[in-house]
Amino acid sequence: MIIGIDLGTTNSLAAYFTEEGPRIIPNSFGENLTPSVVSAGEDGEIYVGKIAWERRITSGERTAAVFKRHMGAKKEYNLGDRTFLPEELSSFVIRKLKEDAEAFLGEKVDEAVISTPAYFNDTQRRAVKTAGELAGLKVERIVNEPTAAAIAYGLHERPTAARYLIFDLGGGTFDISILEYNANVMEVRAVAGDNFLGGEDFTEAMAAMFLYKNNLTDADLSPRERAILHKCAETAKKEFTAGRTVTMTYPHNGETLDMTISIDEFEKHCLFILNKLRAPVVRALTDASLKLADIDAVVLVGGATKLPIIRNFVSKLFGRLPASHINPDEVVALGAAASAALKERNHSIKELVLTDVCPFTLGTSVSVSSAKGVYQSGVYCPIIERNTVIPASRVSRVYTLYDNQQSVRVEVLQGESRKARENLFLGELLIRVPPAPAGNEALDIRYTYNVNGILEVEVTTLSNGKTEKLIIEKNPGAMTEDEIRQSLEGLQTLKIHPREKDEHRYLLEKGERLYQELLGAARNEVSSLLVSFEATLERQNPDEIDEAAAELKSFFQMLEDEDY
Ligand code: ADP
Ligand code: MG
Repeated sequence: MIIGIDLGTTNSLAAYFTEEGPRIIPNSFGENLTPSVVSAGEDGEIYVGKIAWERRITSGERTAAVFKRHMGAKKEYNLGDRTFLPEELSSFVIRKLKEDAEAFLGEKVDEAVISTPAYFNDTQRRAVKTAGELAGLKVERIVNEPTAAAIAYGLHERPTAARYLIFDLGGGTFDISILEYNANVMEVRAVAGDNFLGGEDFTEAMAAMFLYKNNLTDADLSPRERAILHKCAETAKKEFTAGRTVTMTYPHNGETLDMTISIDEFEKHCLFILNKLRAPVVRALTDASLKLADIDAVVLVGGATKLPIIRNFVSKLFGRLPASHINPDEVVALGAAASAALKERNHSIKELVLTDVCPFTLGTSVSVSSAKGVYQSGVYCPIIERNTVIPASRVSRVYTLYDNQQSVRVEVLQGESRKARENLFLGELLIRVPPAPAGNEALDIRYTYNVNGILEVEVTTLSNGKTEKLIIEKNPGAMTEDEIRQSLEGLQTLKIHPREKDEHRYLLEKGERLYQELLGAARNEVSSLLVSFEATLERQNPDEIDEAAAELKSFFQMLEDEDY
């Protein structure tokens, strides 16, 4: 069985394809979203999702979140006495989705199509693939998140031709993509975005306003208190979906502080964030040589687009209402499942051929002469420009700089910066050239980028016809085969929390969190209920456990409804 996975910065989801189209697979809590959070228990057990989410506050130093941002960057996370790479943390999330899917579907899941932001570079894409493999899944296809979203909409509406602009604002990434659907082909025309912009910025804006209005500063709070404040800000921010005014409360030093704020005031305070959303939209349109009026539908993707001020902003920017009738949280996973079905050539999905673009510019470094004949080295020379439809092959010719120059160093770079050294170094070739006067020897540098995102570099010396090749498969930052093998061995020794026990563990962790947040009578009550629940669990009488769990759940619910 093959499933589609939306491995999000904040939340992850899995979906599968049915005769009626793609469907979301619920997790062990019966919920569609699994928070992309991993925590290592004091006993060494690994928790993923909602349980780990609770532990961000009670065991922050053993809990990791937002690690997708560092995929392929060899950043190490210390969780208790173990260290993990972002690929490994992501593999726990994928493994959880896989196990939940197997339990739900009643069959083994061995393969997945996983989505990545369109803006991810090669190293990051490879890291996502590695994460899937570490979780025991075959990952033959990576699909761009906006492409997946467009597929979901395309399947849903079945137009004959359409241009989509996908506006995806997740927890920490912003992606704009323009896709064109024509005669059963979905072509990515342009992508642009910001890897450091998302719903979190609005949560932080909310928290900052709260501190300001309550005469506090960040420095007054411990890391744990900051985590609680953040959680409260997040809850309040989401309430704007239901009303124009929200009240944020936060327990601090035994009293409950609050702030009531209108959507207009919040919007005003967030203008600086909203303004950052404009540039990628303009850039994508320019790259695709399109005007706003050429877009048939603007599609909202990502949880943060549920914020009314984002919807307003998008409506104003485009002069029309955006499409959001497929849940923005779920549309990518649904599209990934459709993409998985496409890969398998499932008969119930209309043949849809996908073309893709290279999301970044690939080039080399050259020296150029200025007007006064002075050479400036380290200037970036683009060869395959971003948003070129792939597969693509492009040539650029360069000349020797000095008399009797012996060799030419061809650097392979990826990025958009004018200064070569600011771009990502992918590899290099050292080409020996026959002695000749400066400028007499010429080299043709050919870049070929195939559909699997593998770049081939060929350098031909024109005078003697010799060609040298470099295939860039491994990138700096990506895990090597050896590292992947070692990691697999290391992960085997870990105890992963069994999914059957998720519900009870969750109640215990949530109780722990509430205990730390509360004071006085409520706190004592949480404490005594937890003690008795632990005792009940030890007696292992299923009926008694169910009853105690239900009681605990409704008590927690009551506490949260009361806002303490
Ligand atoms: P990612 O793709 O990064 O995993 P999601 O698409 O799940 O992220 O979006 C997560 C973001 O959406 C978070 O910042 C969260 O606060 C925000 N979000 C979710 N629901 C709402 C809502 N109802 N109102 C405002 N923001 C929301
Ligand atoms: Mg997302």
